[in-house]
Amino acid sequence: MVTPQQEPPGRQVSGHEPRGSSAAPLMGQMMQMPLLISSLLHHAARHFGDTEIVTRRIEGDLHRYTYADCEVRAKQLAQALLATGVKRGDRIGTLAWNTYRHLEVYYGTSGMGAVCHTINPRLFAEQLVFIINHAEDRFVLFDITFAALVDQLAAQCPQVRGWIALTDRAHLPAMQTPIICYEEWLAAQSGEFDWPQFDELSASSLCYTSGTTGHPKGALYSHRSTVLHAYGAALPDAMACSARDAIMPVVPMFHVNAWGIPYTAPLVGAKLVLPGKDLDGASLYALMESEQVSFSAGVPTVWLGLLNYLSQNNLQFSSFKRTVIGGSACPPAMLRSFEDQFGVHVIHAWGMTELSPLGTLANLKAKHAALPPEAQRHILEKQGHVIFGVDLRIVGIDGLELPWDGVSFGDLQVRGPWVVERYFGQLESPLIDGWFPTGDVATIDADGYMQITDRSKDVIKSGGEWISSIEIENVAMAHPEVAEAACISCAHPKWDERPLLVVVRKPGTEVDRESLLQFYEGRVAKWWIPDDIAFVDAIPHTATGKIQKLKLRELFKNHVLPSVSQMQAEST
Ligand code: ADP
Repeated sequence: MVTPQQEPPGRQVSGHEPRGSSAAPLMGQMMQMPLLISSLLHHAARHFGDTEIVTRRIEGDLHRYTYADCEVRAKQLAQALLATGVKRGDRIGTLAWNTYRHLEVYYGTSGMGAVCHTINPRLFAEQLVFIINHAEDRFVLFDITFAALVDQLAAQCPQVRGWIALTDRAHLPAMQTPIICYEEWLAAQSGEFDWPQFDELSASSLCYTSGTTGHPKGALYSHRSTVLHAYGAALPDAMACSARDAIMPVVPMFHVNAWGIPYTAPLVGAKLVLPGKDLDGASLYALMESEQVSFSAGVPTVWLGLLNYLSQNNLQFSSFKRTVIGGSACPPAMLRSFEDQFGVHVIHAWGMTELSPLGTLANLKAKHAALPPEAQRHILEKQGHVIFGVDLRIVGIDGLELPWDGVSFGDLQVRGPWVVERYFGQLESPLIDGWFPTGDVATIDADGYMQITDRSKDVIKSGGEWISSIEIENVAMAHPEVAEAACISCAHPKWDERPLLVVVRKPGTEVDRESLLQFYEGRVAKWWIPDDIAFVDAIPHTATGKIQKLKLRELFKNHVLPSVSQMQAEST
């Protein structure tokens, strides 16, 4: 049971002002119960106690237990943390995949008042050292796959008091770093524990951006922002999650809290299916079928692997009904393939670490019901419409708001109770007039649907006009022989920049430069057609699955466009 308040909330308000008093406004007289993360798991354990959480464990086998079991173990973890002297507000790091143990850490840490700091193990070692030291993590809990990584990091992170391996004694890896066994640590505690009640504005979790420019920056979420986000995410025009769903977050729990699913699933009482470390098409498909997953969420690159696996093996889903795709633009060709070939409804979504992460999701309004399917799809291909909790606007270089006409594009700014106000450890706020500048460039149409044109640092400026690299990529991705495409700017003496398309062909295909350029005819404005195409074996990705444009620009910095060599030849 949730205990009565053990300490007063930070913001004292009175519900007892006499009617008509001029001294203070009349306050509502409802219970003051802080919105705490522990209450999500407690709710699921109490009202959906036998609903399952199924995990493909790092040890290889399938593990299943219930929300009721999960709460007991999360409480044991909270007790273990308290016993080692962890205080409210202390940061506890994780280097872990999507598993039931990671879920216990989410709730055990935040639930006792500490801060769950999820660390992205795909970052470079120097970035990880910077992040762990900047966050001043007291303990770090890690999956055994990261044993070598921990050995590499530990000496450079002196303030970490203990490294805890998320496994049992039988599977403890041999390491140089002294480690604690998670299962033994937990077993020493009873699990008889009441979640403490405290101010909902307290910090609950911490997530660093990947820091493609400069050092990574920390977004420090609060209990209130996380619970509100979990409510928002569950809405019918957001992820539409319910107690009838079996939800599998493919997006990692170290990537913006798996887009909030570890909080939303217990909020609605849905079954959770956690895929562990194997995110290849075959492993995901097997788990989705055996656990009858109905809903999932992930970035386009992971879905590419799953769709290829299904096509190559002539398979269909038996339970998978809808998926959220975001993190980078979902190519329309992928959306269509999911819908037409596999009967899976795609919800294209946009967000970022600084937004907890959900900002917009593409769903139709009532007035769109009568539109022909093609027109409906055109709307659903955009990054979507806000849910309550997020407001947005686009501004021009003069800082003035631009019209919502679906054509004007400018810097996208957002605000809301789950949007970051300042970064962890930084005094200066990034806000502009109370709005958070996202660094994305976008259009908004008259119905409020937002479409991202580019990251502002990735737009291609040709002759003073902007070309959307995302749109150029989407056209290429619609070609049947293109596996992946990235469009970057290339220096041009006359136009400043012109688009260069970098393409990975599908295995066994041989689409060439001329036929792919021809494919653009009639699909985009003539001056948007790339000046050149480079075929490569692979395109580099960031730690969160985005195309690494910075690296691509570096790789192709000496690339001479045919139009430029022609100009040079003519001038000599
Ligand atoms: P996440 O990858 O979870 O969205 P990050 O903070 O790592 O969070 O990255 C945020 C950035 O990713 C956004 O500012 C935007 O540039 C890009 N992004 C996210 N979703 C989309 C999308 N649907 N379409 C285009 N870009 C996207």
